[in-house]
Amino acid sequence: MLMCKEATRLMSLKLDRKLTFQERISLRLHLSMCHACRECDRQFTLLHEAKHQLGLELPSEEDDRP
Ligand SMILES: [Zn+2]
Repeated sequence: MLMCKEATRLMSLKLDRKLTFQERISLRLHLSMCHACRECDRQFTLLHEAKHQLGLELPSEEDDRP
């Protein structure tokens, strides 16, 4: 079981590169049990999307755009 600190590191890491299978599983397992880190992961994702909006093109994951 990951520590929250380690889980947070993986969350930030996964924005820069693809996580390994092992890392993904560990993170997912932790998120399924830790509400605080789930919330944190959501924030990381939002932040990442904001970064995309500032510079790079957005991945078309959401259909609610004009
Ligand atoms: Zn946690």
